[in-house]
Amino acid sequence: MELRGFLLLHCWAAVTAAPGHFWHITDLHLDPGYSTSSDPLKVCPSAGDRPVQDAGKWGNYLCDSPWILINSSVYAMKEILPNPDFIIWTGDDTPHVPNERLGETAVLQIVQNLTNLLLEVFPGIQVYPALGNHDFHPKSQLPAQNNTIYRNISEFWQPWLNTESIATLQNCAFYSQQLVDKNFAGRVIVLNTNLYYDSNNQTGSLEDPGGQFAWLEQQLNYAANTGDMVYIVGHVPPGVFEKKRSKPWFRPNFNKRYVEIIQQHSEVIAGQFFGHHHTDSFRMFYNSAGSPVSSMFIAPGITPWKTTLPGVSNGANNPGIRVFDYDRGTLEVKDMVTYYLNLTYSNLEAPRWEKEYRLTEAFQVPDGSVKSMQAVLDKISTNKCYLQKAIVEGAARYHREMLRLHTLQQARAAQRTPHWEPYGL
Ligand SMILES: [Zn+2]
Ligand SMILES: [Zn+2]
Repeated sequence: MELRGFLLLHCWAAVTAAPGHFWHITDLHLDPGYSTSSDPLKVCPSAGDRPVQDAGKWGNYLCDSPWILINSSVYAMKEILPNPDFIIWTGDDTPHVPNERLGETAVLQIVQNLTNLLLEVFPGIQVYPALGNHDFHPKSQLPAQNNTIYRNISEFWQPWLNTESIATLQNCAFYSQQLVDKNFAGRVIVLNTNLYYDSNNQTGSLEDPGGQFAWLEQQLNYAANTGDMVYIVGHVPPGVFEKKRSKPWFRPNFNKRYVEIIQQHSEVIAGQFFGHHHTDSFRMFYNSAGSPVSSMFIAPGITPWKTTLPGVSNGANNPGIRVFDYDRGTLEVKDMVTYYLNLTYSNLEAPRWEKEYRLTEAFQVPDGSVKSMQAVLDKISTNKCYLQKAIVEGAARYHREMLRLHTLQQARAAQRTPHWEPYGL
């Protein structure tokens, strides 16, 4: 009996060894000009010419984030999980305003302010930051070479990065770094996928902007040789936007190359984490035989800003933040919990960050592995209840009462997007 008891205990210990947690936040989009003005045209520059009625203290769906909202998000993280293994921060810090209203200094100031907030609230915690298309001036025009913005930002991020990362960050805003603890067999590769964005006029004619694809393959080969598993982190994701199927983010040739690299190296890739479209979603990648080989998690934004992208109806969201549970040995994603702030309620009563959903509970899957994410996609594709759930969660419960069939169909199709028809893949 004693022996059996010991064995059971031993097995239990082995199974539950080394679970870790990390945060993923994205698209904070600070609007320093936000105010609760009673003049609907003077509430926030990020609303453009859209009148903002009843602007609340915590923000408005037509505006980017006031400082108080970003502050509240970061302190909510601190309260929910004060000691994460690390934090992934996938960029887009500045407001959606015309270039003339920003400038290099204004962009840098905002990135520095948000960096300082994370350093202050999470001292000693490793952060892996990525640049978004809004973290440059003029916006989205991130070049494939060294410039003042990359140089300045790499100085801000020095507390988190080693010398080698700083060097490649200065050069082209990508880097690769071993996971915090030497005992973890893992590596984080942070990409500058803004180079592949179809709004970027600096890189469209290049075959491999900044040599990033070649570098990525080198990194993945290196990981395979050293036995490291890898997380890939970036801002602009491949594929098309759920809320507008005709809108791909990457240029087609870049999308194709990215997908091919993921297919070829999927054995060392334990997860991909992206942002940009402010919508909670995921992407599946398949091998040539049609089997799922990798998945990409796309976190909801902190900004509630309603997109002005033509053809998207009511594309706002509640602010969202996300924790991943993962296996420190294999980096396999075990679970994912998303928290959100009901902005309407916050403005009426008080801010309250609540659990929105836990992946394994909401979609009845054992974990966040590729196999499980394929099961989630199958459930969404075949079961209207799961699909509805995915839509509601896609905007952090903003669409609770606004479900419409065509939106549902869009979402169903878009999760398969890396291989999707705009590219004929
Ligand atoms: Zn954004
Ligand atoms: Zn973006």
